Amino acid sequence: MAAAAVDSATTELDVLVVGAGFAGLYLLHRLRKDGFAVRAVESAPEVGGTWYWNRYPGARCDVESVDYSYSWDEQLQQEWDWKEKYPAQGDILAYLKHVADRFDLRKDIDFETTVTAATWDGQSCRWTARTSDGREYVAQFLLMAVGCLSVPKEIDLPGVDAFGGQVLRTWGWPEGTDLAGRRVCVVGTGSTGAQVIPALAEEVEHLTVVQRTPNFVIPTRNRPLREGELEAIKADYVARRERNRNHPAGVFRADNPKNAMEVDEAERQATFQERWEGGGINFLGAFADLMFDQAANDAICDFVRAKIDEIVDDPKVAELLKPNSYPLGAKRPVVATDYYETFNRPNVELVDVRQNPIESFTPAGLRLADGEQHEFDTLVLATGFDAFTGAFTKMDIRGRDGLRLRDVWREHGPRTSLGLASAGFPNMLMVANAGSPSVLANMVTAIEQHVDWIAELLDYMRVRNLRSIEADEQAQEKWVAHVEEVANSTLWPNGDSGSWYRGANVDGKPQIFMPYAGGVVEYGKALEHSAANDYEGFVLA
Ligand code: FAD
Ligand code: NAP
Repeated sequence: MAAAAVDSATTELDVLVVGAGFAGLYLLHRLRKDGFAVRAVESAPEVGGTWYWNRYPGARCDVESVDYSYSWDEQLQQEWDWKEKYPAQGDILAYLKHVADRFDLRKDIDFETTVTAATWDGQSCRWTARTSDGREYVAQFLLMAVGCLSVPKEIDLPGVDAFGGQVLRTWGWPEGTDLAGRRVCVVGTGSTGAQVIPALAEEVEHLTVVQRTPNFVIPTRNRPLREGELEAIKADYVARRERNRNHPAGVFRADNPKNAMEVDEAERQATFQERWEGGGINFLGAFADLMFDQAANDAICDFVRAKIDEIVDDPKVAELLKPNSYPLGAKRPVVATDYYETFNRPNVELVDVRQNPIESFTPAGLRLADGEQHEFDTLVLATGFDAFTGAFTKMDIRGRDGLRLRDVWREHGPRTSLGLASAGFPNMLMVANAGSPSVLANMVTAIEQHVDWIAELLDYMRVRNLRSIEADEQAQEKWVAHVEEVANSTLWPNGDSGSWYRGANVDGKPQIFMPYAGGVVEYGKALEHSAANDYEGFVLA
């Protein structure tokens, strides 16, 4: 079915997809193939989502390239040649542009088009979405492929407007920015900071790193793919993808089945060392109980702290770089190249603002509470995201009886049945966001799992002439409680991590654990159970 233009400013559709990152592109492809009148809108002038917006120096994925890619087209996975073990931002963006061209997706995407509001009409069972440029889209289904990490956190630095130099955000980094010879200050030492800091240190004259909470940073150990390696992977691709789908993290990892505290000290240290040398997130697979047993977690934390002492020349700097207030893994593990080594460079200075907070920015830099001043000409903000809910609460979404999603979620946090739909907002489905494994898994696997389930649901409804689906309120409360309970059975919520996993990085945000920590396998079973039982957990009408 083709999209119909009601008048020049209104488009009638079966499905409106919001976002053209990994999730939006696959939704568009799959639903168009299934015969729905579907169109996507995207704020950016290009496809790519995360990988369009985050172009800062050093940006890279920490899932292996051959796994951080679509599995739904054998030809596609055979023809695309990844260059490195872990793909750089530019390579992922090139891949997604290729997907858009190869499957002719661009003709059904309106770029530079931002949905600002959407209203549900219970009579016609349709959403009307309005965009920043005054257009309207009327669609039965509103599919939110808006991303978990697509809205940067509001700037909350004291007196930042007083700063007279250049201010850059890592999100929306201007292409072609040249900071050679400049004095730069980076605020933020999360995953983004840990990538941009070593990259900038090589380029700039002087780098001031403002750290509030240190992170455990695991070495990436990226490298070019070896001769024959890609061919061997491609020969086994279908089975490899199946292994990925059957691992809770959505990517196969040779996890050690042993518990850390059941082996002796020598074996424990040798295992940590082997994983450290291997690099990447596999470090967390060193033992089975790392996220469940405080003593096991303490052991891996001690190991990383000892590594910091080993790598960093200045003992005072090493001390400041050591996290002490939360379990390793409670914040999203940070994977980066030469992070700790960067603090041995003569042009890099670490400023700890936990004990001595920023009092105010000044025209030429910043001043700390004790009066210490730091001067620079460029300020780089790697301060994170209004994760999960940010992209939703930015829009004025009004559901059944005028219920405003912004009001409900700002008060109670994102409440969903199976991470797919929220009571009061019929036919609005979310892809790989709050309430589903999303960021706790290889997100491409999580996205494919969701898109396939949604496509089957839409087909089920079409065949039976059903007009709406909505989260069942009781099922929703049960699911939200279950998500919290699963998180509480791990060390994820422990300590003073200030983690965006539970909204703790944004002032005033309700704190609930947002991603589902049970992994894609358990989650897949819940999805299958629902579908096999006429979409239990949802009300179809
Ligand atoms: P996104 O890629 O965020 O795309 C959402 C799109 O929706 C955006 O382009 C946005 O402009 C658009 N949009 C939002 N609201 C509107 C609106 N109202 N109107 C119109 N358009 C709108 N995940 C991993 O699994 N492994 C990694 O190593 C990894 N690294 C990451 C590195 C960075 C720097 C960041 C920020 C995230 C990383 N992630 C990683 C998570 C990453 O976001 C996901 O892997 C994946 O790219 C998400 O795809 P998506 O399509 O769901 O969302
Ligand atoms: P983040 O993890 O939230 O880190 C933000 C950093 O900014 C933290 O160090 C935080 O300190 C600091 N900060 C925020 N506000 C501050 C303030 N007012 N004063 C001082 N410091 C402040 O955000 P991120 O680094 O952008 O990463 C977000 C997520 O994106 C990651 O967890 C990951 O999922 C994804 N990502 C992945 C990769 C990758 O390698 N694959 C790379 C980049 C991003 P506090 O901790 O004290 O709040």
